[in-house]
Amino acid sequence: MRKNKQGYRCSFCGRDKSEALLLIAGIDGHICEVCVEQAQEILEEELYGSKQEGGKKKKKTEFKLKKGTTPASLKAHLDEYVIGQDEAKKYLSVAVYNHYKRLAQPPSDDGVEIEKSNILFVGSTGTGKTLMARTIARHLNVPFSIVDATVFTEAGYVGEDVESILSRLLQVCDYNIEAAEMGIVYIDEIDKIARKSDNPSITRDVSGEGVQQGMLKMLEGTEVSVPPQGGRKHPEQKLVKVNTQNILFICGGAFDGIEKLIARRVNTQVIGFQGNDDLQLRLTDKENLIRYITHKDLKAFGLIPELIGRLPVLTHLEPLDKETLRLILTQPKNALVKQYKKLFALEGIELNFTEDALDLIADKALEYKIGARGLRSICEAVMTDAMFELPSQKNTKSFTVTKEYALEKMDKSLISRLKAA
Ligand code: ADP
Repeated sequence: MRKNKQGYRCSFCGRDKSEALLLIAGIDGHICEVCVEQAQEILEEELYGSKQEGGKKKKKTEFKLKKGTTPASLKAHLDEYVIGQDEAKKYLSVAVYNHYKRLAQPPSDDGVEIEKSNILFVGSTGTGKTLMARTIARHLNVPFSIVDATVFTEAGYVGEDVESILSRLLQVCDYNIEAAEMGIVYIDEIDKIARKSDNPSITRDVSGEGVQQGMLKMLEGTEVSVPPQGGRKHPEQKLVKVNTQNILFICGGAFDGIEKLIARRVNTQVIGFQGNDDLQLRLTDKENLIRYITHKDLKAFGLIPELIGRLPVLTHLEPLDKETLRLILTQPKNALVKQYKKLFALEGIELNFTEDALDLIADKALEYKIGARGLRSICEAVMTDAMFELPSQKNTKSFTVTKEYALEKMDKSLISRLKAA
């Protein structure tokens, strides 16, 4: 043990106890905080590779599902935030569970390699596709980003390169590449990059098939050179290598018009299997044809088979009916009504909605065809006056939104113009 006349010193740098903030004692020596830090740096560089750009040190990031996580527990969590959509929730929970189980698996030599289970959600806009992806990522505490497929074009054309799909993911985890490599990316509007027509045309399809081709390798898992700041606006930026092997891609799209293709397919099947009651039944179920979607329909819609193959988990989201819209107002953990109640409670005011006021809001969202996303705009139209006036009325202790009140405020607001539209 090193000890001078006054006391102990660091066995590595010789610093005296009085000069160090902290001196940790070992069996036969001491180490100061500066040497601990230096040792840590050496360790990181030796074990986990060189420093990252910008002098940022790489942290070893490991991801494991929390103990006790099961597909059912994941779904139960989704249930707290997403109303209905049971089938999609089930598919998502299983896919996410398998994906992260697969990551935790040490490499084995039995030749069985569990493949990635990227997911494709099909459902009209505002039915909860993004919400589900975001909720599950938040629950797992993995980096999550949303990108819009419509901004991409084939390399060399005006627009974004597909590689910048990963730029946003890098940004949200502060360029921690290891963390990004275990993240989830939600690619919205995937239907907008469908091949424009079945026939190869003389004009190039640079934002459709070209982009699909560009995405293939990334979805499957490869090393991608990513422009960290995204886009093509910074041509001087150094590209960062990101391996997408363990990134879970969730794609979503409304696939407007795909019902016709489904109907056509089911129709021909019915002709082929005359007398099959089950299929006859399906045909009459016009409203919800989307629930019979298969990969074949996606191909007919204009997704290339290679891309479809890389999105093996296909599920649909149901259109929201009045009942569901009504529940969305009150049930989820951060439901709109709960949010308004909280806002008013902060002012010391108890806020209530009558049942028929809530019915009316759900009805209007359906009537104006603005879905769940529109519930917020309707509520704002109803609540703005109250939110404006009540904080200055010090003796108001409670406030109830009735159907008549809601109707009056809606009629006065711009939202009622949607009726005419
Ligand atoms: P999209 O299907 O277009 O991705 P989003 O997930 O962005 O739709 O939904 C828009 C908003 O509507 C969400 O932020 C959420 O508030 C609400 N919403 C939509 N569907 C549901 C649902 N099934 N349960 C609860 N809220 C929903």
